[in-house]
Amino acid sequence: MAQHHHAADDLNSPPIGSPLMGDPADILMGLRNVDVGVVAISATCAVSFVNDAFLSAVSAAETDPDAVLGRHYPEVFKACSLPAEARPPACDVPAVAAETSQMRADIAWSPNPAGGWIGIVGNARGQSQGDAPQFEADELTGLGNRKYLKTCFEQMVREDQGERDGVVALFLDLDHFKQVNDTLGHAVGDGLLRKVAERLKRAIRREDVVARVGGDEFAILLADNPLSCAEDIAARIIKMVSRPFLIDGHQLTIGVSIGLAARLPEERDPEKLLQRADIALYESKRSGRNQFSWFKDEMFAELERRRDIEMDLRKALLLQQFEIVFQPQVDFQEHRVTGFEALIRWNHPDMGQILPSDFIGIAEDTGLIIDIGAWVLAEACKAASAWPEDIAVAVNVSSMQFEDSGFVNAVSTALATSGLAPQRLELEITETTLLKKEEVVLQRMNDLRSLGIRISLDDFGIGYSSLNYLRKYPFDKVKIDQSFVREPFADDNAHQIVEAVAQLGAAFGMNVLAEGVETLEQLARIRANGCASIQGFLIGRPIKPTEIGSFLTAPLPTMDQDQPPCAKEGDQG
Ligand code: C2E
Ligand code: MG
Ligand code: MG
Repeated sequence: MAQHHHAADDLNSPPIGSPLMGDPADILMGLRNVDVGVVAISATCAVSFVNDAFLSAVSAAETDPDAVLGRHYPEVFKACSLPAEARPPACDVPAVAAETSQMRADIAWSPNPAGGWIGIVGNARGQSQGDAPQFEADELTGLGNRKYLKTCFEQMVREDQGERDGVVALFLDLDHFKQVNDTLGHAVGDGLLRKVAERLKRAIRREDVVARVGGDEFAILLADNPLSCAEDIAARIIKMVSRPFLIDGHQLTIGVSIGLAARLPEERDPEKLLQRADIALYESKRSGRNQFSWFKDEMFAELERRRDIEMDLRKALLLQQFEIVFQPQVDFQEHRVTGFEALIRWNHPDMGQILPSDFIGIAEDTGLIIDIGAWVLAEACKAASAWPEDIAVAVNVSSMQFEDSGFVNAVSTALATSGLAPQRLELEITETTLLKKEEVVLQRMNDLRSLGIRISLDDFGIGYSSLNYLRKYPFDKVKIDQSFVREPFADDNAHQIVEAVAQLGAAFGMNVLAEGVETLEQLARIRANGCASIQGFLIGRPIKPTEIGSFLTAPLPTMDQDQPPCAKEGDQG
């Protein structure tokens, strides 16, 4: 209570023109519980009075008025929770009275003749309906829509007299949303979006704007924002969104990736700002998701390269710029080459040879993978039909390709056209494919296997890979990912996993192959772990189709001697 008396000392006579009349101490006590937000500060900016309504109107972190008394006003009500126009004169920003805005809690400051100021929160909404942006809702979530967001940006820009910290845009994309939608259906997906929207609303301040701008994409504009505060908000959003959701009895966990960009001085085009945030978002996704990244100028160059690749990729098939190289697979139990994996290469006229890691993702994003994949399939089958009959060919299949309704047809056409026996074709799929609806995947696998071809699980052990997949789906082969074979990840733990998978494979009648073997030491260890099928630079790098004949007639480099071969990847000369 002593503090309230102190408060009264500061406010000992009512400020001129303010509604405060009568005995100040009584008035202040009475103001504790009214709906109008009131704050009083001393000439040195110490808080001498504040009520609950004020704390809630400015979305303060503190909810207890007593905890704020006596503290330095700008420290407690950082710009983050208080509009800049409310900064009182003693805090080196001139007093701006009652500038109103749709999105701010407006504080009218009056000087207190006894020293200091009194601030009253005006009606946060409504005083300037005339030029306030007309709210336009996104129907599903009730958040604003893209158009509304842009109007709000324009409003923020109009209000910015260069004294504020500026506008920051956040671009958000939910991680793994598509998976939820695909496996649990649109109703659950919609429910999830609504709940995410609720959490986003809670994560931001009342002066900020959040909108849904795409299927599972959201954008937020932070008004008047110091950069560190934007990071706090981004981190809070990530934390809030990663907590599990309960929707229609399903407990779901997703994540969110965020890109941040600050408005440039004089920037008037909201699209430009959002675009930069979107580019930064791409970086967040690429570097592992569920994190935030600031836009950097270098990202433009990366994006440009991606765009170039995308444009050129559209023409690459037509211009015959792709080629396939083949990497041998050896079975040390049978002492022979059992097959080759087909690996695509893109010979770009200006950029030189481009590896699949630099363009397969883009081909998937643009849908071009369907045609490119069909081409690889046809070419690989054609090449393999010229090889000895006990040599198989393995072709990588993207999940998008696998899902495509024309896929089984593309496979049988490739077989028919090349005359390759189906038993010699192996399709490599990855776990991404298995994340789709189980019945659909199983059906597709069975359709393919009934053609007589075999199916392998590629890159096993990374991502979510569970041993369950091996039981649930009819795989003919498991390819243990390179990270279990090579340092620095191939530790004792990894060796045990290789051993366990090898045993499981034997039990289920599946071939188990280890990828990425580069040294004799790795080879010896993998073999000791019970895995006899090997692929890796030690056995051979990917080679051109014309080199396959001589590879097959040469003695296998690693069977008996201890010198690793120095074969060079045929396509790198
Ligand atoms: P993947 O299917 O796991 O193929 C093995 C990759 O590891 C190949 O890289 C191969 O060159 C490399 N590799 C093999 N042995 C070793 C080794 O001992 N040491 C090291 N450091 N690397 C080794 P590549 O050709 O760059 O292909 C990368 C990935 O791109 C492939 O991984 C596959 O997922 C994808 N890919 C390649 N060709 C195609 C294609 O035609 N269609 C699709 N959808 N994806 C493809
Ligand atoms: Mg593969
Ligand atoms: Mg692999």
